[in-house]
Amino acid sequence: SIPLSFFGGIGAASKQGVLIKGSNYLERLNEVDTFVMDKTGTITKGSFEVIGIFPDKKGLEEDLISYGVQLERHSNHPIAKAIANYKKGVAEVEMTGFTEKAGYGLSALIEGKKVIAGNERLMEEEKIVYKVPKVVGTSVHVAVDGEYLGCIIVADVVKEESKAAIKRLKEKGIKKVIMLTGDKKEVADYIGKEVGVDQVYAGLLPQDKVTKVQELIDKGEKVAFVGDGINDAPVLALADLGIAMGGIGSDAAVEASDIVLMQDNLMQVVKGMDIAKQTERIVK
Ligand code: ADP
Ligand code: MG
Repeated sequence: SIPLSFFGGIGAASKQGVLIKGSNYLERLNEVDTFVMDKTGTITKGSFEVIGIFPDKKGLEEDLISYGVQLERHSNHPIAKAIANYKKGVAEVEMTGFTEKAGYGLSALIEGKKVIAGNERLMEEEKIVYKVPKVVGTSVHVAVDGEYLGCIIVADVVKEESKAAIKRLKEKGIKKVIMLTGDKKEVADYIGKEVGVDQVYAGLLPQDKVTKVQELIDKGEKVAFVGDGINDAPVLALADLGIAMGGIGSDAAVEASDIVLMQDNLMQVVKGMDIAKQTERIVK
C-alpha cells in the first residue's frame, strides 16, 4: 500500500507548481543520480532572436531574408518564430510541398523554386556549399534552386535560474548533469559552460537523444530527463523519471512525462527534490 504521507508530498508539491502524477514518482525522485536536460527551452529561454544577417554575396540580402521569412513563418520551431518576426510585410507567396525535418530545417517549392532553410546538416544533405560566420549562434542557411543565399544567425539566452539550479542539484548529490541538443557544438559548448553542466552532447537528432538516454539506463544510472518539446516525448517516456516543462511544453511532452512543472524553470526541479526528501523522512 502507498503510505499516506506520499499523498501529502504530492499535495505539497502541487501547491508549489510541481505536479507529480503518482506517489511512486516522488519516491523515484529520491533515487535519481543523473539529470539529462534538453537545451532549448529547458536550460535556455527558447525564445530566439536574429543577431546577424550574412548574405553570401552583395545584393542577396533581400532574397535571403524574404525567402527565409516565407519558409519559417510556416514552422512553430522557436528558431522559426525569430526569423518570421524579423521582417514584417513580406509578401505571401504560392507555396507547395512544405516539409519540416526535425533536426535539419525546412523546405518547400515557392513559385516553383525549391527553397531550403536550415542548419549545416541540411545544406550538406542538399549538397549546398555554405559559409559559417564567426559568430556564436545557430545558423539558418538559405538556398534557392541550388544557389546559396547566405545565413541568418539566431541566438537564445540561458534562463536566469539555470546555473544556480544545476549547482543545487549537484549539492543534493546528483552525480552528473548532461545537456542534450540538436543544436551545433559551438553553441552547445558555450551554453554548457555558462551553466556548469558536466557533459554536452550536440548535433543530436531526436532518435539520438533516445539512444543516449538508453545508454545511460543500460549502464545502471537512474536517469531523470527534463524537456519540453514535441520531439522530447519519446525521451520523457523512456527515462526513469520524465519531467516536462508544462507552461511552454507541448501536449505530447506533458502526456509522456511523470512530473509536470507549472513554472518553466529548473529551480522547480530542486523544489520537487526537497519535497521528495521531506516525504521520505516522514515515511521512514
Ligand atoms: P533542440 O535539441 O535544441 O531542441 P531541435 O532538435 O529542435 O533542437 O533542432 C535542432 C537543430 O535543427 C536546430 O538547432 C536548427 O539548426 C535545426 N532546425 C530545426 N528546426 C528548424 C527550423 N524551423 N529552421 C531552421 N533550422 C531548424
Ligand atoms: Mg527541443
